[in-house]
Amino acid sequence: MIERNEGFANLTAGYLFPEVAKRRKVYQTAHPDAKIISLGIGNTTEPLTPHIAKAMADYAAALGTREGYSGYGDEQGLTELRERIAAVLYPKMASADEVFVSDGAKCDIARIQSLFGRKTPVAVQDPAYPVYVDGSVIVGAAGKACASGSGYDGITYLPCTAENAFFPDLSVVKPGTLIYFCSPNNPTGSASTRAQLTSLVNFAKEHGCIIIFDAAYSAFIRNPELPRTIYEIPGARSCAIEINSFSKLAGFTGVRLGWSVVPSELQFADGTPVKQDWNRVMTTLFNGACNIAQHGGLAALDSEGIKETTALVDYYLENARLMQAALGGSNFAAAGVKVYYTGDSPYLWVQFPGWKSWDIFDYILDKCRVVTTPGSGFGPAGESYLRFSSFGHREDVQEACGRLSALTLERR
Ligand SMILES: *Cc1c(COP(=O)(O)O)cnc(C)c1O
Repeated sequence: MIERNEGFANLTAGYLFPEVAKRRKVYQTAHPDAKIISLGIGNTTEPLTPHIAKAMADYAAALGTREGYSGYGDEQGLTELRERIAAVLYPKMASADEVFVSDGAKCDIARIQSLFGRKTPVAVQDPAYPVYVDGSVIVGAAGKACASGSGYDGITYLPCTAENAFFPDLSVVKPGTLIYFCSPNNPTGSASTRAQLTSLVNFAKEHGCIIIFDAAYSAFIRNPELPRTIYEIPGARSCAIEINSFSKLAGFTGVRLGWSVVPSELQFADGTPVKQDWNRVMTTLFNGACNIAQHGGLAALDSEGIKETTALVDYYLENARLMQAALGGSNFAAAGVKVYYTGDSPYLWVQFPGWKSWDIFDYILDKCRVVTTPGSGFGPAGESYLRFSSFGHREDVQEACGRLSALTLERR
C-alpha cells in the first residue's frame, strides 16, 4: 500500500467556509421560511460588464471558424495581454516578460509553494487568507499542527490587530523566510500605507526574505496616497513577487484569470534568477490560461473596460459604506462594537468585545438571518471579530442593513 502524503495528514480539519455553510443549512432547515442573506463569502455577485462580456463572446464565436481558431498558446500568456498588464498596471515598474498570466491567484499561490519547496520557512499575517497556510501544510513546509490547536509549528504567525494598526511586528521573522502579505487585506480590509510597505520591503531586503504580495484587491483602493502595487516601493523589485487577479477587479471569479509578476532582479542564494525557475514552473505545470478569458482580460484593461470595472468596484464599495453606517449604529456602539473600515476594500472587520467569533456569528444568524464570516476562521488573532463582505446585490445589502440596525446587542 502507498503511504499517505504526510502533508495531508498534517492538515487540521474544518475549512472555514464549509462550516459556515453547514450552520446556515441547519438554521434554514429549522426555519424553512426565513430569508437568509449572506454577507459571508468573498465571491462576486454582479454581472460581467458589457464591453468585457462582448469581447469574450466575439472571441468564442471566432473560435468556431477556421480563421479565428487557435489551439495552445504560450504558457506565460498572450504577449499582448502581458504587455497590457505591464503598461497599464506597472508603468515603469515591471516589463511584459516579468508578467505571467494564469488561471487565477489561488492557483498561482499553490504553484509558488512548489517553487520554494518544503525547506523554506514561511510567515503569514494572522489573520490571513487560508490558502497560504493550508497550501504550505500540503507541501510539507508548515510542519504539524501546534498542540494548542491554533496554527502550525513550522509557520511564523504575525498578528495584525487593531493595536498595531493591522501591520505586524516583523522582528520575529527569521532570515530567509517567505513572507505572505496581502494588502488590501482579506479578511481585515486594511490597506497598508506607503510607510508600512517601505518597512516591509526594507526588512525583507535586510534579512534575505522574499515577499509574496497578494494584491487581489488593489482595484478597491480609492485613497490616492496608498500604493496599489508593491513595486511602488523602492527596492521591491529585488525582494517581492506580486500575485494578482481579474476575479475581484472584473468579476472573473468564475471566468478564471490572474497573473504574477516576478522581477528579473529577484534571485535565489546561488544567484539563479527566481524568474527562470518560475518560468519553468509555469511552462511545466501549467498550460496557459483560457484564451477566451485572456481576451476578456485584454478588454478589461482598455479604456472602456477600465471605466466599466471602476464602476463595478464602486458598486461594492457603496455596499460597504451602507454596511459601515449600519454597523456603526448606536445599538452596536452601546455594546462596544468596533468597526474597522477605511473605504479601500470590500471587507469590514468588526470586533465584538466579549464574544467569541462563532457565538456572535450564530447570534446574528439567529436574530437577523444574516450570514457573516467568523474572524477566528482566518487565524487565532481573528477571535472575537466578524468579517462582513460587501459582495452582494444592493437590495439584499439594504435589507441586511435594516435588520442589523434593529438588532439589540447587550454589552458583554
Ligand atoms: C479572492 C482572492 C484571491 C483571488 O483568487 P482567484 O484564484 O484569482 O480567484 C486571491 N487572494 C485573496 C486574498 C483573495 O481573497
